[in-house]
Amino acid sequence: MSTHAAASIPSPPLVIYTGGTLGMVAGEHGLAPGGDIEARLSRALGALPAERRAAIPDHEVLAFPDPIDSSAATSRVWQRLAGEIAERYRDHAGIVVLHGTDTLAWTASSLAYQLQGLDRPVVVTGAMQPLEAEGSDAADNVELALRFAVNPALQEVAIAFGGRLLRGVRARKWQTRDAAAFVSPNYPLLGERVGMDPILYPGRSLARQQRGAPRFELPDYAPLADGGVARIVLWPGITARQVAAWLEDPALKGALLEVWGAGNAPEDPALLGVLAEASGQGKLLAAISQCPHGSVGIGHYAAGRGLHAAGVLTADAMTPEAALTKLVHLLAQPLADDERRRSFLTPLVGER
Ligand code: ASP
Repeated sequence: MSTHAAASIPSPPLVIYTGGTLGMVAGEHGLAPGGDIEARLSRALGALPAERRAAIPDHEVLAFPDPIDSSAATSRVWQRLAGEIAERYRDHAGIVVLHGTDTLAWTASSLAYQLQGLDRPVVVTGAMQPLEAEGSDAADNVELALRFAVNPALQEVAIAFGGRLLRGVRARKWQTRDAAAFVSPNYPLLGERVGMDPILYPGRSLARQQRGAPRFELPDYAPLADGGVARIVLWPGITARQVAAWLEDPALKGALLEVWGAGNAPEDPALLGVLAEASGQGKLLAAISQCPHGSVGIGHYAAGRGLHAAGVLTADAMTPEAALTKLVHLLAQPLADDERRRSFLTPLVGER
């Protein structure tokens, strides 16, 4: 680890490199995570126009020795990253995480639950193109992330990408190629690049809701990494037998159901019976809508009442990423069932 450029602030932000396209290089089988990230980053930032370069805070770089394509991330990776941040954050004005875009929103959501009560920025970013690619978005995204990472008014896990700042636990990857790849369907942007400057919009950040000191929760996710939580998307014609195949797995401790519209599922007694049986065994079941915008309100329609009776919790307008990582987070802790259910329904980090 070393300091980039000349020092100008007392506790430079820390950049943690985990992998992703941003740091990839062409290999025999296609793009794969590359090394030497500190020098490569420095070259890419150094190629920005002088006025922008001057506004980039000095920073330190910590590279994971085994960078990955984020499609390989698991809850163990989320846990490891939160542990690294928890260990080091006090020495830095903020943290920037460089991550692959494919599962970036999952990692950001998980970090938010693990790093509750953050008193400084943790900004996750990546890129649609490698640092060295012509017209790459990588340097722009890192520049934006670094500049938000020294704003003390930002006290949460956020995603800086394509000129925008989004709440991590509200964000989703929405584009496979467009540089503005992330959206926040049910919460406004936290900030944006306006002209050359990163602007944090007043009143939207979690800082207003923070009370007391950081209260990180860093439970061991390993026991859930082997099929502890599933994501089940309903489709017309889904059978009780198919749902049972997921829910009867003894390793499964919770599941996220993606139901229809405002909270509907087939009124199939066998299917609802499978759900009720799993709930009765203490498995934590929650439902979101397959519609990206708006909330579920289980029980508005007769077709949704069965879900309520089967003990399925409503996840309101949470993203799938936020809802599933919250299930993982709560199931990893030694909580009583009713406490876990209550916590799921309570907004912990602005996720609902
Ligand atoms: N597959 C890459 C990853 O998620 C995609 C990216 O970084 O954009 O690591």
